[in-house]
Amino acid sequence: MRSDLLIGKVALITGASSGIGAAAARVFAAEGATVVLAARREERLAALVDELRDQGAEAAHVVCDVSVAADAVRAVGFAVERYGRLDAAFNNAGIGGDRTAMHLMSDDVYESIMDTNVRGVWNCLRAEIGAMLENGGGTIVNNSSVAGLVAIPAAAPYIASKHAVVGLTRAAADEYAKQGIRVNAVAPGTTRSEITADWFGRNPGLEDLANSLTPQGRTAQPEEIAAAAAWLLSDRCPFLTGTVLPVDGGLVNQ
Ligand code: NDP
Repeated sequence: MRSDLLIGKVALITGASSGIGAAAARVFAAEGATVVLAARREERLAALVDELRDQGAEAAHVVCDVSVAADAVRAVGFAVERYGRLDAAFNNAGIGGDRTAMHLMSDDVYESIMDTNVRGVWNCLRAEIGAMLENGGGTIVNNSSVAGLVAIPAAAPYIASKHAVVGLTRAAADEYAKQGIRVNAVAPGTTRSEITADWFGRNPGLEDLANSLTPQGRTAQPEEIAAAAAWLLSDRCPFLTGTVLPVDGGLVNQ
C-alpha cells in the first residue's frame, strides 16, 4: 500500500540487506521516501533496489561496514551526492552474537558486538548529523532493542551494546535539538529475522520462552518495527525527540 508519510524525504537505511532493514526499505519506499540502502552484502542490496525500482520507487545502494568510520562517511556522502541531501536515517545495522553465560562469553564476541552495534551507530550518527546540519535539520532513528531497556537471558554484550545505543540516542537528541535534528530509537521485541532464526536454531526452547514472556504471545514481523521507525522519522511527530519507543507486544510494560 502506497502512502505519504515520508514523501519527498531522502532516507538512509543501514543493515538494509535483510530482516528489519530490508522491511524498512520496502515500508519507507511505499511511504514515498527515496531510499539509500547500506550494508556489506552487495548482491542482496542490489536485488532489493531492483525490486523497489520495479515498484516505482527511487532507490540506490552503497556497500558499507558501519564499524568502519570511513564507510559511514562514504555512505552518507553517496546519499548527498546522488540525491542532494539527507533528510532521514535509520541506523538499524546490528548483530546478535552468541547466547552464552557472561562468565563463559569470549572477548571476541564482546568486541565484535560492540564494534558493530555501538561503534557502528556512533560512526553513522556523526556522519549523518554532519550532513543534516548542512541541510537545516533531519530525523534519525536508531535501532536499539528491548535489550536496551531490560536484561534478556545470556546476552550480556548485546544488552550492553543496546543500552549504549539508547545513550547515544539521548545524547544526540539533546545536543542537536535546537539545530532541527530529532533523534529517537525503537526498541523491538523478538522479531522474525536472520538474527532470531540463528538464535532460535542454536537454542531450542528460546522461541517459546520469548513468546511466553511477551503479553501478545508472539514475535513481530519486521514490517511492524519498520512502520514505527517510519512514523518517528516522519513530520507527524515534530515535538518528539530523545525517546525510546518499545515495539514489543507489551514486553517491557509488564
Ligand atoms: P538481520 O541479521 O536480518 O539483519 C542485520 C542487518 O545488519 C543485515 O542487513 C546486515 O547486513 C547488517 N549488518 C550487520 N553488521 C553490519 C556491519 N558491520 N555493517 C553494515 N551492516 C551490517 O537481523 P535483524 O533485522 O533482526 O537486525 C536488525 C537490527 O534490529 C539489529 O540492530 C538488531 O540488534 C535489532 N533488533 C532485532 C531484534 C530481533 O528480534 N530480530 C530485536 C531487537 C532489536 P550485512 O551482513 O549485509 O552487512
